[in-house]
Amino acid sequence: MSASREDILQELGLWPQWRRRDLPAEIENSLEHAASGNAGEAPARSTPVVQKKSGALTSPVLPLDQRVAEIAGMEWPQLKQSVADCTACALHKGRNKTVFGVGDEKAEWLFVGEGPGADEDIKGEPFVGQGGKLLDSMLAAIKLKRGENVYIANVVKCRPPNNRNPEADEVAQCEPYLHRQIEMIRPKLIIALGKVAAVNLLKREASVASMRGKIHDYRGTPMIVTYHPAYLLRSLPEKARAWEDLCFAVETMKGLQSAAAAPT
Ligand code: SF4
Repeated sequence: MSASREDILQELGLWPQWRRRDLPAEIENSLEHAASGNAGEAPARSTPVVQKKSGALTSPVLPLDQRVAEIAGMEWPQLKQSVADCTACALHKGRNKTVFGVGDEKAEWLFVGEGPGADEDIKGEPFVGQGGKLLDSMLAAIKLKRGENVYIANVVKCRPPNNRNPEADEVAQCEPYLHRQIEMIRPKLIIALGKVAAVNLLKREASVASMRGKIHDYRGTPMIVTYHPAYLLRSLPEKARAWEDLCFAVETMKGLQSAAAAPT
């Protein structure tokens, strides 16, 4: 039996009132991470890196410009293999699995977080565990479902140690993958989940509070900013604001769909 709207809002903690959940240590770490907000500087060009010989990236040392160009020409299978084999930044050293992204490759909705946590690193899928459960509830609250017209990805594909924010050079090496994913998905709307994702996508330092409630532009695609689910797990005020953001996103999507359907 499908969940009622009240069930979903209750799951989100918005009905009838919020109650705190007991959080595992990993989520607590993630919350401290999300609250610290010390990442987001514009990524800088970095020194060439050594890569594992696999897929199309066959050069052992590939300048970033060349790497960007090669990734920009990849199709899905090649892109997935390249991520699976990638050693372009230091994050590969501590990972169990790369976390490529999941969902409908023709989705209108794209949700982007900052990077994998412990659960994601083990399973190889973004937003699993408590934060993922909340994200799924948020999707359900606006009648969406993971994998159905929804794609979920992260700015970096490997877990930063101790859930720290990704460094600028790590983002610079990894974001060509996200760029290519977005080029192929061609979503109508991007939802940036949390400050780290938002500032790395928009390339400017700002708080989530100052970025939410507006339609931003990410390389030609409209983008809305809201809070990271891990942060929402313990923050009542932001949880209610996240619901406002979701409603704003739904209205924005309706406008985008109407504009796309209008005769030219
Ligand atoms: Fe490669 Fe991205 Fe993983 Fe770094 S985080 S090793 S760039 S896939």
